[in-house]
Amino acid sequence: MALTFDVEHGDQPAHPDGTRHVLETLTDRKVVATMFIQGRWAQANPSLARDLADHGHLIGNHSHHHAPMSWLSPKAFDQDVRLAERAIRRATGHDPRPWFRCPFGDGSEDPAIRSALDRIGYRETSWHVDPFDWRGKATGPGVARLVIEEATAHGDGAVVLFHPWSRATGRALPLVIDGLRAAGARFVRMDELS
Ligand SMILES: [Zn+2]
Repeated sequence: MALTFDVEHGDQPAHPDGTRHVLETLTDRKVVATMFIQGRWAQANPSLARDLADHGHLIGNHSHHHAPMSWLSPKAFDQDVRLAERAIRRATGHDPRPWFRCPFGDGSEDPAIRSALDRIGYRETSWHVDPFDWRGKATGPGVARLVIEEATAHGDGAVVLFHPWSRATGRALPLVIDGLRAAGARFVRMDELS
């Protein structure tokens, strides 16, 4: 299965070192994941963005401004994706193509948005398991229980969505990794999912 993280400017209540903490947990437990990076976040945090790539995590594009993609004109759409692409390349040294994740999942099922992405070299990358880890009331054990249950129910190829700036995510992640591993799961990047 694939653990995926939307690496972005967090909502409240954001954990200032959340993304660093997630990286440390993944490193400690020898797990590779996929990081959908917001362009503006990469500009603000170039060394952490570089660290994510240097630790072997797959780098994707999570737009520049984090606006719902369906609100953008075709021109603004292309500009936003390209701006993010340049910022991510500059910070990480990696081309995020073809991996793209729509902010808020908005437009992820929309054929017009999917083909607009396709024209500029991207494919929208959705998820199967969303533990709503960003909610103020989310707890580490609660998020972990939900992810383990739903990822196990989905089985092979499950893609899990996390937000690394959420406090609950940092607490849930070791439980998720250990719990799913005990159940026989193997963690891969999106480009290794068959
Ligand atoms: Zn996002």
